[in-house]
Amino acid sequence: MPRSGTFYRTCNLCEAMCGVAITLEEEQIIAIKGDENDPFSRGHICPKALALKDLYEDPDRLRKPMEKRDGQWHELEWEEALDNVAERMRSLQQEHGKDALGVYLGNPNVHNLGGTLLNGGFLRALKTRNKFSATSVDQLPHHMVAWKLFGHQLRIPVPDIDRSDYFVIMGGNPLASNGSIMSVADVRGRLKQVRQRGKVVVIDPRRSQTAELANEHHFIRPGSDVLLLLAMLNHLFASAQVTSGHYRSLLDSDPVALKPHFDAYTPERVAEHIGISAADIRRLVDEFCAAEAPVLYGRMGVSVQEFGALCQYLIMLFNVLTGTLDSPGGLMFTTPAADILPQTGRGNMGRFHSRVRQLPEFNGELPVSTLAEEITTPGEGQIKGMVLIAGNPVLSTPNGDQLDKAFASLDLLVSVDFYLNESSRHADFILPPVSP
Ligand code: SF4
Repeated sequence: MPRSGTFYRTCNLCEAMCGVAITLEEEQIIAIKGDENDPFSRGHICPKALALKDLYEDPDRLRKPMEKRDGQWHELEWEEALDNVAERMRSLQQEHGKDALGVYLGNPNVHNLGGTLLNGGFLRALKTRNKFSATSVDQLPHHMVAWKLFGHQLRIPVPDIDRSDYFVIMGGNPLASNGSIMSVADVRGRLKQVRQRGKVVVIDPRRSQTAELANEHHFIRPGSDVLLLLAMLNHLFASAQVTSGHYRSLLDSDPVALKPHFDAYTPERVAEHIGISAADIRRLVDEFCAAEAPVLYGRMGVSVQEFGALCQYLIMLFNVLTGTLDSPGGLMFTTPAADILPQTGRGNMGRFHSRVRQLPEFNGELPVSTLAEEITTPGEGQIKGMVLIAGNPVLSTPNGDQLDKAFASLDLLVSVDFYLNESSRHADFILPPVSP
């Protein structure tokens, strides 16, 4: 690459994927600006984009592979490091079986071209059942609902934010996440435009940045979202506002047949449990149905709770039964430049179970909440070695202390990461990628 000039790239720090223009002089970053011509982000960047310069220059960022010997870190050349890692992985699987080597994929893999293209082949080559990722502590309920309802785990409709006029957000903070599962650069500006067209309503136990911006914020008792959704559907049926939009012929049965499932969950009955009045629940549904282009969006807060999958199903059902699915301003299927659906599995569940707690796999992956016990519980199939790719699960998954201890007991830990962190500190080898 030339040492000076302006280079147009994509910020890979989050899902919004903003276009950035990076000016270099003699390999020093002089400026990072939003790329006005990027059709996706239209010149927007958030303050985090400037952290690309910090990452690039950070002296603590690892530039060479590291091996720990007798408790001391030593730098290695790449060829030697790759040979050593491959040999240790091969001999561990030969001695203890394929499943003795587990893999954890962190969230940055989905913002990284190399990870997107090559992780699948790497995982297939290992032939281990012990695959884990950040998915099971994040968006797995979305995949499950998409697989069950639309036949593919990645066929996930997203809010048509630029045309919506009544935007209800449950358990999400798009101002911080930049529109998780809808990839929205400049979400603040675009939600302000929704407000000009109509209304933004946030339902969240916390007064988040998005709640500050909303027209209306309802505090909900944590973990009770499922009751609110059941009551919203109850009122939708009771007030005869169900409509199935233009896709009626695609439904398996008459939506009215679903009504008895919601009869018991009247707004009055749930109000006390959830902390939102019956009158507000009814008004919310009535306003939603009266709007031109409403949409109900639910994110991580409703996914990672006891009834997370049911919550995401009910959110989808509410959109279906109000006719907003596949409608302008509602929840729409995407038209990507490159469609990856044919290259990825449709989804599967329960073909095998975790060894210790018998939890079902989804799409070949086990819940990461089982990882520590799979490492520490002796017996056939026990995990003896791990490969972490762009992940720091000691910090980012529940009960990190337990995982911290489990990682310390492994025979082999390989971390693909450019930092020494809470997880990679236990590694025998750290293989650092280049900077973003
Ligand atoms: S919102 Fe910020 S962190 Fe996310 S891609 Fe854009 S500039 Fe990067």
